[in-house]
Amino acid sequence: MVTRLLADGERVAGVEVAARDSGERTVYRAREVILAAGALATPHLLLASDLAPRNPGGRVIGRYLQRHYNEILFGIFPTPPNPGGGFHKQIGIHDFYFGHSSVSAPSGKLGGIQQLPTPPEGLVRAELPALVGAMVAPWIKHLTGLLVMAEDQPVYQNSVLLDETASDRYGVPRLLISHRHTSRDKAAGAALAAVAKRVLRRAGALACYRHHVATFSHGVGTVRMGSDPYTSALDADCRFRGLVNLTVVDASVMPTSAAVNPSLTISALALRAAERLAARSSRPTASAMHVAAQR
Ligand SMILES: Cc1cc2nc3c(=O)[nH]c(=O)nc-3n(C[C@H](O)[C@H](O)[C@H](O)COP(=O)(O)OP(=O)(O)OC[C@H]3O[C@@H](n4cnc5c(N)ncnc54)[C@H](O)[C@@H]3O)c2cc1C
Repeated sequence: MVTRLLADGERVAGVEVAARDSGERTVYRAREVILAAGALATPHLLLASDLAPRNPGGRVIGRYLQRHYNEILFGIFPTPPNPGGGFHKQIGIHDFYFGHSSVSAPSGKLGGIQQLPTPPEGLVRAELPALVGAMVAPWIKHLTGLLVMAEDQPVYQNSVLLDETASDRYGVPRLLISHRHTSRDKAAGAALAAVAKRVLRRAGALACYRHHVATFSHGVGTVRMGSDPYTSALDADCRFRGLVNLTVVDASVMPTSAAVNPSLTISALALRAAERLAARSSRPTASAMHVAAQR
């Protein structure tokens, strides 16, 4: 368990790690440090290591937490729509991504709609209130869903910050997560949900059930990249400004959430950052060139 990044001057001089069972501490040292702990844990580590004051855009660390505005529209069909129980996630509707003439409000980007496989009974029972779950259980085979994913707005107040009054078992201040969707997020979700409902009804659904997804599974944005050093903490290569050997490559780097599942974007940004890091590392440094010139 990484508990702290230890800075010395302009460098991360060591990464402190605690053994999960014994709590024993070890410090690892490396020329380059890559932080990829996710949109909640990465800002947590940066803040707990007191690295924000070293970054000109340090005030954004832990801020602008986004998680998409997600809803599932389940259509209830007279006959099971997926009798073979195959994993269906092939259809994506992105006609509404940048807004649509049929949607007057909100203006601008809305997001995407994607197919969702019939959920397992256990998941439905776990997600729904007990009584509703019991009522729905016999109908699960008759369900198929569309997942609505609206691009939520980056809002400074939506944050992961340190709770200085309480620590975890490694002595790291606990994390406080504050997030509230804006009325625009909800309106974009509602506009897409209306479309998804129309699609399901035209496909033969007798009725629809609308389920809001309130998880942080698509959490992004808490250590945003950007070109302005005062409104972002990372440059375009995901380098942490203020420290010369720290790169962040995970969901926290995304300045906006985009209305698609985030993994491929995170991977693409990580690969790009790695290529640039490798290119920089293979380039001879000024001091190496100086030594070579003296030989
Ligand atoms: C149920 C679910 C379904 C999803 N489905 C999809 C999907 O279909 N498509 C899609 O694109 N995305 C999906 N996502 C989202 C996707 O998984 C995340 O966006 C993505 O994994 C984020 O990548 P990351 O590298 O930022 O963080 P993670 O994948 O969370 O990796 C962070 C890693 O850091 C480790 N870590 C954290 N803190 C510490 C510490 N202090 N010390 C040591 N290690 C630490 C964690 O254990 C973890 O292994 C799903 C997420 C969930 C939860």
